Amino acid sequence: MSYKYIYLFKEGDAKKRELLGGKGANLAEMTNLGLPVPQGFTITTEACTKYYEDGRQINPEIKAQIFEYVDKLEEMTGKKFGDKENPLLVSVRSGARASMPGMMDTILNLGINEDVVEVLSRKSGNPRWAWDCYRRFIQMYSDVVMEVGKKYFEELIDKMKAEKGVEQDVELTADDLKELAYQFKAEYESKIGEPFPSDPKDQLMGAIKAVFRSWDNPRANVYRRDNDIPYSWGTAVNVQMMAFGNMGNDCGTGVAFTRDPATGEKKLMGEFLMNAQGEDVVAGVRTPQKIEEMAKVMPEVFEQFQKICATLENHYKDMQDMEFTIENKKLYMLQTRNGKRTAQAALKIACDLVDEGMITEEQAVLMIDPRNLDTLLHPQFDVQALKTHKPLARALAASPGAAAGQVVFTAEDAKKWAADGKKVILVRLETSPEDIEGMKAAQGILTVRGGMTSHAAVVARGMGTCCVSGCSEIVMHEEEKWFTLAGKTFREGDEISLDGSTGNIFDGIMPTVPATVSGYFGRIMELADKFRAMKVRTNADTPADAIRAKELGAEGIGLCRTEHMFFEEGRIAAFREMICSDTVEEREEALNKILPIQQGDFEKLYEALEGNPVTIRFLDPPLHEFVPTEEADIKALAKAKNKSVAEIKAIIDSLHEFNPMMGHRGCRLAVTYPEIAKMQTKAIIRAAINVQKKHPSWTVKPEIMIPLVGEVKELKFVKDIVVETANAEIAAADAVLTYEVGTMIEIPRAALTADDIAKEAEFFCFGTNDLTQMTFGFSRDDAGKFLGAYYNTKIFENDPFAKLDVTGVGKLMEMAVKMGKSVRPEMHCGICGEHGGDPYSIEFCHSIGLDYVSCSPFRVPIARLAAAQANIKNPRDFGGKVAKTVKDIGKGIKGIFKKQ
Ligand code: ADP
Ligand code: MG
Ligand code: MG
Repeated sequence: MSYKYIYLFKEGDAKKRELLGGKGANLAEMTNLGLPVPQGFTITTEACTKYYEDGRQINPEIKAQIFEYVDKLEEMTGKKFGDKENPLLVSVRSGARASMPGMMDTILNLGINEDVVEVLSRKSGNPRWAWDCYRRFIQMYSDVVMEVGKKYFEELIDKMKAEKGVEQDVELTADDLKELAYQFKAEYESKIGEPFPSDPKDQLMGAIKAVFRSWDNPRANVYRRDNDIPYSWGTAVNVQMMAFGNMGNDCGTGVAFTRDPATGEKKLMGEFLMNAQGEDVVAGVRTPQKIEEMAKVMPEVFEQFQKICATLENHYKDMQDMEFTIENKKLYMLQTRNGKRTAQAALKIACDLVDEGMITEEQAVLMIDPRNLDTLLHPQFDVQALKTHKPLARALAASPGAAAGQVVFTAEDAKKWAADGKKVILVRLETSPEDIEGMKAAQGILTVRGGMTSHAAVVARGMGTCCVSGCSEIVMHEEEKWFTLAGKTFREGDEISLDGSTGNIFDGIMPTVPATVSGYFGRIMELADKFRAMKVRTNADTPADAIRAKELGAEGIGLCRTEHMFFEEGRIAAFREMICSDTVEEREEALNKILPIQQGDFEKLYEALEGNPVTIRFLDPPLHEFVPTEEADIKALAKAKNKSVAEIKAIIDSLHEFNPMMGHRGCRLAVTYPEIAKMQTKAIIRAAINVQKKHPSWTVKPEIMIPLVGEVKELKFVKDIVVETANAEIAAADAVLTYEVGTMIEIPRAALTADDIAKEAEFFCFGTNDLTQMTFGFSRDDAGKFLGAYYNTKIFENDPFAKLDVTGVGKLMEMAVKMGKSVRPEMHCGICGEHGGDPYSIEFCHSIGLDYVSCSPFRVPIARLAAAQANIKNPRDFGGKVAKTVKDIGKGIKGIFKKQ
């Protein structure tokens, strides 16, 4: 028997998601639940992968199976493609494993042609419907399959409406639609140079190919990168009998959520349109009615629909997002999926489902996408300011958040302005999938048309971007880039603020305050803390950052970059004096000025952390980064150093390096200038002694981290200086203090010789920014130049500086942990590169047995949740405690690689 590439809906189920895609798997599941689903079949994601393997072709074997299943569908429905009595019309719908709303393409009413439209018209006695189906099909097919461009067709519709003096599509008559259909076909012929295909089987093959092809369209590629969806997954294709919502006034189509996707409130929320088809509701063509209205228009159908909603929510144990169509008062379910929601809603729904006894605490933790939390950590509007500012208008609160910025009118401009560092609000009549990158670049989105389920609303919620939609009070001149609202004219660049939680629109920039972790957010964070095995620390260089991070749940500092303490006014002078010294004595003199400043900073950090661990890294960057460039600064420095300007300039020149990233930096500085290491050790130890004295109940245990080590001897050289200095300080103060000296693992050689390094290092911390840079051999400052080309050619799907390259860099890390702990079982290992705040990378860190991740303060809640999810999916086999021995590491690890 040949390989099975196609499943009838009744042959599938929700577990076959990888094969059937989300849409197909759920259509199958709904069929099995006995719900009214128009029947059909799903062509698997494997067929899509095969299509790409075969050089973008559907091979004969798959083609034969497609026609075999068309026969089956004809038998099941009693309808036939192109039949003179009972013609079969189908939809061809894309559906990947992870839902990608609006990213790929769907075609409705396929199977219709000149003959079929006449049959439909005659048999139904409803020519308007027949011609509406036909013109829609030509429109969608042309757009999706032949990429003729929607715009031309929409222009033709607008022209027709103007000629007939009507406002809405539904007011066009059968004859109008018939004429439109002919115009569309002519448009197609003129653009493509061939007649519009009439054979349903040709149409079907064209449509299936188009869906496969749409997996690789630019907006789908961007969406995947943003949402961690691998290219290799491919999309399935669903071929499904049509249900017609456009047959008249006892028909309609709609979308609904079982809970409010913006707030999480437990209440049916949705919209529908009478006498409409497919995307009409979300496309903002007409303003839809609220779902509650259905109770009045079609009470029996509404009741049935409510029951189905309850069934689905109970079955999936999550909020459902559903599509339905009513054909002559008969309800059909066309889609269900776990609904996309805002971060606020996600937290509330998870907590509510636990309280309703529907899910466990673990499931609640797993159901929240850590990346979504980001939006909650952004500033919110100041409550005081909200009270005193009167909004210009109020529209739909489509996606929460506080957004303030300058008005732009196109996605292009949004991108451009944002790249220039401006904060923008994208104002559009309505958005479409082409706008996605501009929407991402904007602080907020404001639309004139469209409801809660419009494209703008759905996509904005998915991205966590603030969105206010359907503000019909705006008089928009999109082409000329201006609009009026509440008597005020707004032009490009004018300032405006949006409150996505209330739908209020304000003139000017509203003040904001930092976010807090409380309510449902706090509760989910508590649960996360209960289930995770890894600790979460923060990268913080200032006491203010440290305090912020601690409020957000940080359990220590994983990285304090001491050099950042010198950029401030008043400090840099002393530092420059140190750099521009010729002799050790001169340098020590300058260092003595710096010592008390550093000590003061460290004391504040220890105070802020209240006895939690603080890892302080020794001076890391090349010294030339600190030298003055301004003539006046150079003069001042010369004066302070009692040197001539020429002498100072000569020193500055001598610091020039061809490749500073691989130059005189990290522990190399301490090797050349041990006095710097001495000074920093003194500052750290003195600070710790002082703070420990003040707070006897805390355990202040400094962790001194030596950067950029590649060879154990260089570590030992610096460590000896640290130990000698530290012990002398402790003895002189007659104090009791323990401390650790460890290293960053950020040079591949350090990872490769981790067993040697561990003989000296008391802890490892992976500096994955440098480790990624040095493993790939490209500079993180220059990678932007070519990464675009790497994405386009699919060599890379992600930025390895944002998402850890588990295959290469990860292998070095895994190796280093194993080798390190084999020599020194009690050593702790962490990560402090950017990846420490990336959920995918955190899952990997968990799997290789790291003890903690360290990330920027605002990523701390994300890391807490991601660490919990990692441990729930893949528990460490020792009662939630952190790995202590080599044997423990990797226990129960299924390997993150297989997930892809
Ligand atoms: P998306 O994934 O972008 O939502 P869909 O495949 O769900 O695309 O289809 C787009 C629209 O067409 C939806 O409103 C859907 O309900 C409608 N639709 C799809 N298939 C059918 C069908 N067989 N009968 C009626 N409407 C359909
Ligand atoms: Mg859909
Ligand atoms: Mg580094």
